[in-house]
Amino acid sequence: MAIIRFQAVREANSHKAITVQAPVKRTSEYFGVNVFDKNKMQKYLSQEAYEGVIECIDKGLNIDRKLADKVAVGMKVWALEMGATHFSHWFHPLTDGTAEKHDAFIEYNEYGQVVEKFSGQHLAQQEPDASSFPSGGIRNTFEARGYTAWDPTSPAFIVGNTLSIPTIFVSYTGDALDHKTPLLKALSLIDKAAVDVCEYFDKNVTKVFATLGSEQEFFLIDESLYHARPDLLMTDRTLVGHASEKDQQLDDHYFSSIPERVGAFMQELEVEAYKLGIPVHTRHNEVAPNQYELAPLFEECNLAVDHNVLLMDIMKKIARRHCFIVLFHEKPFKGINGSGKHNNWSLMTNTGVNLLSPGNKPKTNMQFLSFLVCTLKAVFTHQDLLRASIVSAGNAQRLGGHEAPPLIMSVFVGHKISEMLDELEIRVTSKKMTPDEKTELKLDVGKIPEILLDNTDRNRTSPFAFTGNRFEFRGVGASANCAAPMMALNTAVAQQLTQFKKDVDKLIVEGVKKDEAIFQVIREYIIDSKNIRFEGNSYSEEWGKEAKKRGLTNVPSVVEALDGYLSAKAKRLFKQTKVLNEKELEARTEVRQDNYTKKIQIESRVIGDIALGQIVPIAIEYQTRLINNVQGLKDLYGPTEFRKLVGGRMELITIISGHVTKIKSLVAEMIEARKVANKIENMREKALKYEKEIAPYLSEIRYHIDKLEEVIDNEMWPLPLYRELLFCR
Ligand code: ADP
Ligand code: MG
Repeated sequence: MAIIRFQAVREANSHKAITVQAPVKRTSEYFGVNVFDKNKMQKYLSQEAYEGVIECIDKGLNIDRKLADKVAVGMKVWALEMGATHFSHWFHPLTDGTAEKHDAFIEYNEYGQVVEKFSGQHLAQQEPDASSFPSGGIRNTFEARGYTAWDPTSPAFIVGNTLSIPTIFVSYTGDALDHKTPLLKALSLIDKAAVDVCEYFDKNVTKVFATLGSEQEFFLIDESLYHARPDLLMTDRTLVGHASEKDQQLDDHYFSSIPERVGAFMQELEVEAYKLGIPVHTRHNEVAPNQYELAPLFEECNLAVDHNVLLMDIMKKIARRHCFIVLFHEKPFKGINGSGKHNNWSLMTNTGVNLLSPGNKPKTNMQFLSFLVCTLKAVFTHQDLLRASIVSAGNAQRLGGHEAPPLIMSVFVGHKISEMLDELEIRVTSKKMTPDEKTELKLDVGKIPEILLDNTDRNRTSPFAFTGNRFEFRGVGASANCAAPMMALNTAVAQQLTQFKKDVDKLIVEGVKKDEAIFQVIREYIIDSKNIRFEGNSYSEEWGKEAKKRGLTNVPSVVEALDGYLSAKAKRLFKQTKVLNEKELEARTEVRQDNYTKKIQIESRVIGDIALGQIVPIAIEYQTRLINNVQGLKDLYGPTEFRKLVGGRMELITIISGHVTKIKSLVAEMIEARKVANKIENMREKALKYEKEIAPYLSEIRYHIDKLEEVIDNEMWPLPLYRELLFCR
């Protein structure tokens, strides 16, 4: 066994020789070559078709079949020139990844000859046999059919020899079966709501985009070591493993020089990403050994979500070329930092203004404050929904563990903004302000420093932090599809903006002047959402107590946190905004519950098999060696003398027996518990049973295995050790 391990390490080391490709061109020269973007559209489409598509994209209109046919003609010419032979509708089902089904361009013509064909119909709609995607029961009740429909706001791209067309995925009845459908609805909603609010300040604003920049953290593990770990192979995380003597204590990995093999991987990855128009920008070593981060320039939210999943996909492929495996799991290793995906979010107008960036004039700052307080209030009102949008079996291992935000939602705004909000609360009153009071207030509002970026005290412990010109939603897991939290956040803020508009208009109708009405509503929202603001250390115990006093919710259970989707408040939100109907909402909650159950079920099976199939036999073998040794000493020296010579070996034999017995009985109990849980029909109850009764076995069994790892001959241990996994690079 051990021989395999050391061979693996040697093999791993030999890969270090991989050469670094020198980039041949400047990035700007080939950025987006594999994307059917606006430039390509202009070149390959007729003027009429081009203008038609752009109008539909800008105004969010549906593209009719006639127009789709015209676009298809140009897209086909481009794709064939690029060497594509297939096309595929590319979508985000409610699994952890994306889905694609490739069809060749070929068809028979009237003479029975093979020709390339690609029409508006191929482009606009497909009907994949989708019966095996999770639907939360939506499809079973109707038909197995699912439809994919083109999303023209995210441009088609070529990977390998396939033209990929981003699409939504809905059931026969039109219910959403994917992440993109509700996200697009939420984004169009926030566009409208934000434009309406902007009307108070700037009539030139006709469109508002939500923006997203997601910082992707990940681990790189040597491929050969990875394959020797069934837990990594099956669950993406280590279910057993004693801590390495050294890991992140010295903080010597964070931002340190990128290892050569990793650098070669990143460079190749970046070239591929740029070809696909993905603007990856920042790369660095993260806190844990072998942990890294890649962050792109922010983009429009829907495109950024597509780009993030696409990036994750190509990362996995390119890593293999460098004999690495990428781990996106939120907590692949016990005892060291896990991986998240901070979602940096803001709102940007068609006039190029970032609505969450303070300006240099009272007017722009009133606008900024309006958007800021609406976000605060939305996060306060929908804290349970936002939490539901980020919890998962993997993320549960990381959140609340003093390396990532707790499961209590709070917002950090920094002391400057905090002061300003407190001031407004005191100074704005509902009675009519004198002209002097008003002028003074506006002057003060105008004094918010424009460049908050350097002034905002960075609070790394906050789950939702204002970082000078955007909010950073920090709880999102590294493996997550950002669409879920982005859908929740944008819907919640959109609803709040709509309410803001109503509240201000109501005061205006009552005769209050516009500016004063805005100030009054801002003040009201500041008071309403005060409890969500927290500037201190969110990892501390005191915060838990304080949050409880404030009435903020704290739900460490994944299954109970998922209930946040189905609260009366969340149901009302989705119904009012029409982002998800009740059936869709229930269905996707069920999919998440089921996903949770299955993840724990798989982990439980894997640890059971590792325990009985790999650890126990080795433990017994080693124990037998000890017994033979002791027996030999006894034979040699006699029953009294030998005792002086056996050292701790007798105790060790007993200790090994103790752990082996415990492992065997725990695994047997766990299997019985699984049998009981598997009979439960109700998804929520089943998931809860898995969480409360099966998951605890994982750590109990692990405890005994890790103890054995400490005492058994390293040479015999069948699994790569933490120090090998974390320091082979
Ligand atoms: P840090 O680690 O300090 O948070 P990074 O540079 O790693 O900073 O990541 C910051 C992310 O925030 C980048 O993806 C960046 O593009 C994004 N970002 C910056 N401004 C905005 C904005 N207005 N809207 C959305 N994302 C933004
Ligand atoms: Mg960040």
